[in-house]
Amino acid sequence: MKDEWDVIVIGGGHAGIEAALAARRKGCSVVLISATINRIGEMSCNPAIGGIAKGTIVREIDALDGSMARSADATTLHFRMLNRRKGPAVWGPRVQSDAAEYASVQQLYIENSGVEILEDEVTSLDGLTEKVTGVRCRKTGSIKGKTVVLAVGTFLKGRLFRGDELWKGGRIGDISADSLEKDIVKRMFHVERFKTGTPPRIIRSTVNTEEMEVQPSEVTDFTFSYGKSRQRDKEEVCYITHTNRSTMDIAKKNLHRSPLMAGRIEGTGPRYCPSYEDKVVKFPDRQRHRIYVEPMGCESGFFYLNGLSSSLPREAQEKMVRSLPGFGSAEISDYGYAVEYSYFHFSEIDDTLRLKKTENVFVAGQICGTSGYEEAAGLGVIAGANAGRTAQSLEAMSLSRMNSYIGVMIDDIVNKGADEPYRMFSSRAENRLHLRQDNADRRLYKTADMFGILSGEKRDLLTGNMKEAEIIRNVLEREMVDGVPLSKWCRRVGVSAEKAIAATNSLVDKDEKVLMSVILDEKYSGYIDRNLRRYESRRNLEKISLREIGSFMDIDEICWEAREVLERRKPETLAHAEKLAGVRPTDLQGLLIYLGRQRSTWNNSSPELVRSE
Ligand SMILES: Cc1cc2nc3c(=O)[nH]c(=O)nc-3n(C[C@H](O)[C@H](O)[C@H](O)COP(=O)(O)OP(=O)(O)OC[C@H]3O[C@@H](n4cnc5c(N)ncnc54)[C@H](O)[C@@H]3O)c2cc1C
Repeated sequence: MKDEWDVIVIGGGHAGIEAALAARRKGCSVVLISATINRIGEMSCNPAIGGIAKGTIVREIDALDGSMARSADATTLHFRMLNRRKGPAVWGPRVQSDAAEYASVQQLYIENSGVEILEDEVTSLDGLTEKVTGVRCRKTGSIKGKTVVLAVGTFLKGRLFRGDELWKGGRIGDISADSLEKDIVKRMFHVERFKTGTPPRIIRSTVNTEEMEVQPSEVTDFTFSYGKSRQRDKEEVCYITHTNRSTMDIAKKNLHRSPLMAGRIEGTGPRYCPSYEDKVVKFPDRQRHRIYVEPMGCESGFFYLNGLSSSLPREAQEKMVRSLPGFGSAEISDYGYAVEYSYFHFSEIDDTLRLKKTENVFVAGQICGTSGYEEAAGLGVIAGANAGRTAQSLEAMSLSRMNSYIGVMIDDIVNKGADEPYRMFSSRAENRLHLRQDNADRRLYKTADMFGILSGEKRDLLTGNMKEAEIIRNVLEREMVDGVPLSKWCRRVGVSAEKAIAATNSLVDKDEKVLMSVILDEKYSGYIDRNLRRYESRRNLEKISLREIGSFMDIDEICWEAREVLERRKPETLAHAEKLAGVRPTDLQGLLIYLGRQRSTWNNSSPELVRSE
């Protein structure tokens, strides 16, 4: 074990893995500490990666050279492109993965990367909060590190619930990080409670799939990863069944035994991913809810019941499951449960994912208030890259929300926060026609390069894609079809890569995927340009730094409500201030007047530029 590590990553979940790998690609020495190393990369809930907007995050992670896309490709059993009925801008690739194999492949990436793996429980940070010196572990004692990434998921004071049962844990069979939470609270970090839950798993041989609708996998050559990725060689079908009157009656009869309804869980859960008992309460007239029956792996003995998350007592879960068509004799292997856990309030985190009270602690994943593997992994790459940069005395970087879903997510979390576990939706991105799954490689090429986290192989691949796109763009601008430039012709409804190739010989040898992506740029160019113009005018506000302001409470030019909000949130730029609830346009004007007057006093004639990509 080294005397001092550049980066210590706590947690081997989706966030911790990407953080450790990104810091390693940055050239840092990295140790990843996980409470149970054989559960590194585990899918705690559903065996699936991607979906609407989430699938685009996975492609962005790949553009930043993370591992999630390649592991999902290698372990895919079932593929669907969601939202196909809508435009390609909001298509969402989603795969069903072999859960056990996915974790093994992720573990291999870590093992082969040169990241040191340590099985231990971190019980506290070491050193002063402003600048920690490392972490303290239950068995190993103190470990020194220049920077720390906290990626401990649902484990901070994790409490698991099922009916009247209550026990400690971050997920079933795992520890609860009570000591670490105590240390975090003692250091005066503002933490709050969220909850989430999971459905029962069913023994496959006890289910009659003939009574269910079959959902086959789509035939496609899609891979999440740009370039060569191991494509799936196995396939599974999924099934669809529905709840009915009887399922609803059983849940209703047992509602008083639900830990949530009985008030024993106080944390807020995800509205978009409710438990079955939540659905029964919120939609009392709706008996029929769709349940996706998903295999946990290739020829796995278990089914996951997507849509039947529950923390009702075991006997109620058994009855509910057996009321479903095809499940009359079903046996449950693992019962559903809910987990309540602590997460960092958004006011603690800056846009580089650093905890503001510290110089060198970064956070990623569910402890930032997000939900989902993809969100966690996306944050992990950025936290790991910035921890690496900080360890190397480089400035940490932030992403623009105009250029990636990961940027949208970080901007939303650190500026607005979330009153429920944050999940990415395409509606959250004002520039979503640009933030497509087909162009993540080109969108993030510059960012990945600036972070310094691309391996040589990935850089070559992405550089090749960039060049190919440039050549295609030149052809589109140069050539004419039907009397109009090819670039304008491409905007017509129904023009595809195939049609463009048929229209001109100059495109015959071009990569069809890159060609289609460039054609989509053309089709959406009007909207994208308009969005960029709006954004540019807002960026001017981002250039105006508020860092020199000691106290907002003394600024007479702004109203009291705004003073209190600004003092509490300490925005770094005028653009940050603009986003805060309680700050009005007149307050921004007031701040500008105040800054203009103070500038001579501070002898700071040009406003400091904030970091951005
Ligand atoms: C029961 C349950 C239900 C869920 N349901 C959903 C859902 O319906 N939809 C959804 O989108 N997401 C759901 N999730 C969340 C999903 O699992 C997470 O979003 C995702 O796994 C977060 O990744 P992460 O890397 O932040 O944390 P995790 O994957 O939870 O990984 C945390 C890691 O930290 C390690 N660790 C924790 N504390 C310590 C410590 N003190 N010392 C050392 N190591 C430590 C753990 O061992 C683990 O490796 C659910 C999670 C659970 C547990």
